[in-house]
Amino acid sequence: MSIEPATPARYTLRAGEARLPLNDYLGKPLSLRWTGAIACTHCGRPSKKSFGQGYCYPCFKRLAQCDSCIMKPELCHFHEGTCREPEWGERFCFQPHIVYLANASGLKVGITRANQMPTRWLDQGAVQALPIIAVDSRQQSGFVEVLFKNEVSDRTNWRAMLKNDTAEIDLATERDRLLDTLAPGLEELHERFGQDAIRVLDEPAQRFTYPVLEYPTKVVSHNLDKTPEIEGVLMGIKGQYLMLDSGVINLRKYTGYEIELMA
Ligand SMILES: [Zn+2]
Repeated sequence: MSIEPATPARYTLRAGEARLPLNDYLGKPLSLRWTGAIACTHCGRPSKKSFGQGYCYPCFKRLAQCDSCIMKPELCHFHEGTCREPEWGERFCFQPHIVYLANASGLKVGITRANQMPTRWLDQGAVQALPIIAVDSRQQSGFVEVLFKNEVSDRTNWRAMLKNDTAEIDLATERDRLLDTLAPGLEELHERFGQDAIRVLDEPAQRFTYPVLEYPTKVVSHNLDKTPEIEGVLMGIKGQYLMLDSGVINLRKYTGYEIELMA
């Protein structure tokens, strides 16, 4: 499933060669059936299980993009010469990264590659986002995020996100407050990486809306591993979730699963 910025966000589901404009299916019945097959999204080989959301076990153990330092960039070990794929690291980790504040289920901090904005925020179901700091590498963004995590969560409560249970936040005010509180820690990072490496941004906040007819009041989730066939009326799409009137499903979780879709 891909998401494009629009008002509301525009969702497209890839099904073989076909591209389904999912927004058009709002209010209509949908059924999804997992055939039982899983193919690795990297090498295409069949796999009994999906590791790291879409990989076979050998790829999961071998690829740099599946290494623990992707989730915890401050643990980047490229400089020790142990990067699983140094060329991949150079292409994706030694690139400008952004530390941002977002609101999907309350205030959170996160990081993203600069060219992944605004996709990253739409992926999370954020309704507001504000880039606050630009850095030169993924690892530096990790150090900044670790600092901000002293004051702000880095998690989204997906149930609250799906219920749209969040109030408007003045992200610019939060940014100024956090920069002030965390000034000593930022100064340490400046001393370590140089004044130019960590740059405070002054950008406008962004807002996002999603194609939703009605938010659920109680969130029940479908699990294709337990129930391979699900159906319901599509009530909305937010983040990586389809909201059916019978329950929600996180499509990202089933990356690599062979699914038959009937609309
Ligand atoms: Zn593989």
